[in-house]
Amino acid sequence: MRPTYLQVNLSQLKQNLESIRAHAAPAKVMPMVKANAYGHGVDGVAPFIEPYVDYFGVALAEEGIHLRQLGIRKLILVTGGTLPEQLPLFFEHDLILAASSLDLLTAADKLAESTRKRLKVHLKIDTGMERVGVRDYEAESLLEKSLACRNIDVEGIFTHLANSEVIDRKYSLMQLERFQEVLRFYEKRSLPMPLRHVCNSGGILNLPEAHFDMVRPGVLFYGVYPGREVNRVVDVKPALTWRSRVVFSKMTMPGRPVSYGSLWQAESPARIVTIPCGYADGYFRRMTNHARVIVNGRRYPQVGRICMDQFMVNLGEDNAQVGDEVVLLGEGITVEDLAKWAGTNEYEVMTNISARVPRVYIGGASTRA
Ligand SMILES: *Cc1c(COP(=O)(O)O)cnc(C)c1O
Repeated sequence: MRPTYLQVNLSQLKQNLESIRAHAAPAKVMPMVKANAYGHGVDGVAPFIEPYVDYFGVALAEEGIHLRQLGIRKLILVTGGTLPEQLPLFFEHDLILAASSLDLLTAADKLAESTRKRLKVHLKIDTGMERVGVRDYEAESLLEKSLACRNIDVEGIFTHLANSEVIDRKYSLMQLERFQEVLRFYEKRSLPMPLRHVCNSGGILNLPEAHFDMVRPGVLFYGVYPGREVNRVVDVKPALTWRSRVVFSKMTMPGRPVSYGSLWQAESPARIVTIPCGYADGYFRRMTNHARVIVNGRRYPQVGRICMDQFMVNLGEDNAQVGDEVVLLGEGITVEDLAKWAGTNEYEVMTNISARVPRVYIGGASTRA
């Protein structure tokens, strides 16, 4: 295996899930495992946490199919947009459709009728995200239509918050009000209420009144808070440690600039070590001359252009040998740090760690028994 790998603490993820469940109870919990479980490696994460979840959430039908291929038996909701020609996949792999338009719902019902199979759907209401879904002010026609679909089971109804992670709750409360107005359709007709869900991580923390029947934690499940303004009312911790080892060690002299573009050179003789990890692994090139890593327990600055497969670190007057341990993330270096150095958010840092980096799972065996 490569010396560069991502260590994933499964028991921490389980603890995070339990903290979220305790906070949102009696609401059900649907962790979002899209984008390779936010970079954590869905192959290791999903089977391990399956006993502790009510649903799995993914963005794409293909991600749902992958979960089935892993042997996942729990309910799987595909929350993103779906093309009509992808509908057969939902029947074949027992996936739940986010019915985000009248046309899609109608097509699903027709296909269900012709294949003599039933399909579960969650109606997707757009209350202010303007991405996919039927707008709250025209939702009644979707709800009416759903009652007339004889081969469809409307199991749920949901919306997505656009500003849940900011301290000013005004926009979220407006979205909530619009969602409540849509739900009155069921009350007015004394119809059974489908499973209602609204909250992403920001909503779980900032909008306790919006937990409804289920919550959809993404980043929070992975132990990272969605922004600086959220109420940290749920105690979670990150589960990732990105490890590598020194692959080359040398003294560099002034006048001998380091890496592409010659962006950095030492002012006095300095110990430079090379780490076998680069932007093709998801270690952003934009972090050049900003990042810090831990070598043998101490923090040092990354120097010179980050390459595709390698980058350099300045140990100054300290020493390190080939094979010494390096930490790129974890042990005090946070996802927030990397996001700041790269000028992006925590989500992109995690989802960007590429498939070339092996995932190594710890904490799974003892808790599984
Ligand atoms: C990704 C996603 C979430 C989770 O968002 P976080 O901010 O990571 O908690 C919830 N709901 C939907 C529909 C999503 O696409």
